[in-house]
Amino acid sequence: MTLRDIVHKFEDLLSDYYILIVHKYSDALTTLSTRASLFESDREMNGFLKEAISRLIELSGSSLGAVYVYDESSRELVFRVGYDRDDFWDSFRCSGKKAPLSFSLENSDPGRAFRETQVRILEYSSEKEIRSKLIIPIVRGPEKLGVLMLAHRQTGAFDRENLSDLKRAVSMLGDILIDATAFILPPEAASSVPVPASRVIEGLKASAGMASGKALPVWSDIDTIAETIASSGSAETESERFEEALKQSSLQLEKIEKSSSLGDREMISLIFTAQLYMLKDGSFLDKMRQSIAGGSSAAKAVRDVVQEYADRFASLPEVRLAEKAQDVRDLGYRILSNLARPDHKGFSYSDKIVLSRHIYPSDLFRLAVEGVAGIVLRGAGVTAHISILARSLSVPVLITDDSSLLEIPEGLPLILDATNGRLYVRPDEKMRNSILAGSGLSSGLPGFYILKGHLKDGTGVSVQANINILKDAEDAVQEGAEGIGLYRSEFPFILKNDFLSEEQQYRLYRSIVTSQKGKPVTLRTADIGGDKLLQGRSQSEENPFLGVRGIRFSLANREMFHDQLRAMLRAGAGADLGIMFPMVSGVEELLQARKELDLCIRELEERGDDFNSAPRVGAMIELPSAAIATSELANHCDFLSIGSNDLIMYLLAVDRTNDNLSHLYRSHHPTVLQVLSWIVRDAGEKAGEISVCGDIASDPMLVPVLAGMGIRKLSVSPQSVEGVKQRLLQFSLQDVEKITSEILSIKRLDEMDHYMKEFKKRWPLP
Ligand code: PEP
Ligand code: MG
Repeated sequence: MTLRDIVHKFEDLLSDYYILIVHKYSDALTTLSTRASLFESDREMNGFLKEAISRLIELSGSSLGAVYVYDESSRELVFRVGYDRDDFWDSFRCSGKKAPLSFSLENSDPGRAFRETQVRILEYSSEKEIRSKLIIPIVRGPEKLGVLMLAHRQTGAFDRENLSDLKRAVSMLGDILIDATAFILPPEAASSVPVPASRVIEGLKASAGMASGKALPVWSDIDTIAETIASSGSAETESERFEEALKQSSLQLEKIEKSSSLGDREMISLIFTAQLYMLKDGSFLDKMRQSIAGGSSAAKAVRDVVQEYADRFASLPEVRLAEKAQDVRDLGYRILSNLARPDHKGFSYSDKIVLSRHIYPSDLFRLAVEGVAGIVLRGAGVTAHISILARSLSVPVLITDDSSLLEIPEGLPLILDATNGRLYVRPDEKMRNSILAGSGLSSGLPGFYILKGHLKDGTGVSVQANINILKDAEDAVQEGAEGIGLYRSEFPFILKNDFLSEEQQYRLYRSIVTSQKGKPVTLRTADIGGDKLLQGRSQSEENPFLGVRGIRFSLANREMFHDQLRAMLRAGAGADLGIMFPMVSGVEELLQARKELDLCIRELEERGDDFNSAPRVGAMIELPSAAIATSELANHCDFLSIGSNDLIMYLLAVDRTNDNLSHLYRSHHPTVLQVLSWIVRDAGEKAGEISVCGDIASDPMLVPVLAGMGIRKLSVSPQSVEGVKQRLLQFSLQDVEKITSEILSIKRLDEMDHYMKEFKKRWPLP
């Protein structure tokens, strides 16, 4: 039951009651406040506060009322909530129109009333619309919290007759201000109103990092933001505000589209252009304009039309189009934010910690481009590619099942420590200092820069980079990677949630190739399927990890596969290019994929395009069947790359994305290590052409083991490159071979755990 329902239920009762009693103000608030405990959510609590104020205004016959709270940092009284008989207004709307946003303590009547804890009654000349004002300090015990201001159109409206009752009622407002567990703070000016104790929300890390910022619950809440925007009452003014908000929105999107901070211009424009088109779509905007001309407020017009379009998209059977509903809502959110804060020169995600129930890869990319500080998601089921992408974008992401997450009001100060799985809600000074002091990570940077990875005795083990977006490629160069060992080319597809044209792919891949300035670049064809679903293009399957995934998907979508292969070949013109196929289950699939590659080479020859006609060709070993068939696969390609993330999952039958099973997902499992060593032995002469590109390649315990098995190429995240090179330098070839033979003699998991513990002590990190 909502607050409004409850209040209405008691309405009749109360009206009789008011006539009979003397303490009309305080009793009215008592009646309301006894029910405060019923209201759990923020919005209802905020509604309760508003209801209390409106009741006081009604009973006093005032035409206007507002609550200001004391803000310690600015030493001002800051507007919190107001009511003018017609509707509520908040800080978005009171600016300069109905009431000032703040009052100084020194030079204003409310300031004086607050300082002196004295009720003030003010009378104005007859020309003014407001002729009398009553200012009552809100106190709780010795604590001064703010003031309530009531305004009347008549002079002499506030006599002293009911004043003590009114004061009592107002002191109850103080209780409400303190007790309201989730009192909504103004979005920008964090207030120092006495607030409930800080709290911590626990969760799981999806992408490490730390961020400090203000809460921004998104997407679900177009209604809330629309409700906070008042109508000016004039169609002309509303129309002007609307056009200005549109202009602001376009400018922001164009700026983002042109942004070069992340390097992935191609992807940025793929994602944002759809919204820019919507902003130029006559029928979409005209619907809003018509609604405004018909008397609707700008906010309502935007909300209604956005909702209508989003619902229409969402109901489409084609999932790819259905997902556009999210684009429309995001755009709606932007326009409304610009309507709400015209004076802020637009809305920005920077310094915001976004709280959401769900996030699409494109949303994540969009938020990262706009500088979001961090993201917290409610609920499980975050796919591996969201985590991988978030890591590439350096956005801290936490996942929690705490149901109160989405009730955190906008503007609340937060500290996100995704690394340790914690979200600090409204941290107090002490908490903030200790969290931030603890986050001082030692840089671990070496005093020198290792050009090529090698063991202590000079045995070379090259360290390349895994990349997902262009920014990673740039980072790889910075971090001294010896080329790109794995480019996960499915990312642009996932971000766009659709196929890309050959040209779009060519531009993306070319940027990656040229960024490496002659170093080898291995592009993997798209690994779509599993948890990397392309909605609308991927079939819905009972068991997608065992379904149409990786090379199977490409072979089942030949046109898309050819577009991609041609784009890769063209991008690799004049470069050391490798093309590799993911999720190969056996030699037949490899041969089929090679046939398609040859077709594309011939096609490009015919077209007369500039391209690389002799790329190195490789297969990934990430399925048990491929591991067993290593020598056969090695006979038909130039190199192999072990995708241990999937190999472990399929060997141990443990879903890599299922957090509940993470204790069973063991890269040190004796079976896993036996299989890895089998692969190297079975590759024979090609052993030197095997790389490892799964996460184990940067596991400090396994780096020497892999080297001891004979692996001479590792591919790791750009941030791990230098650390892996340093780790390699600790061991000689003799050391790693000894360690490997010891480890391979272990057959049981508990013995392996014991060995690893001892090993850590014997070979601490450099
Ligand atoms: C792997 O499976 O180890 C791998 C590198 O591929 P991805 O993580 O993209 O599935
Ligand atoms: Mg894989």
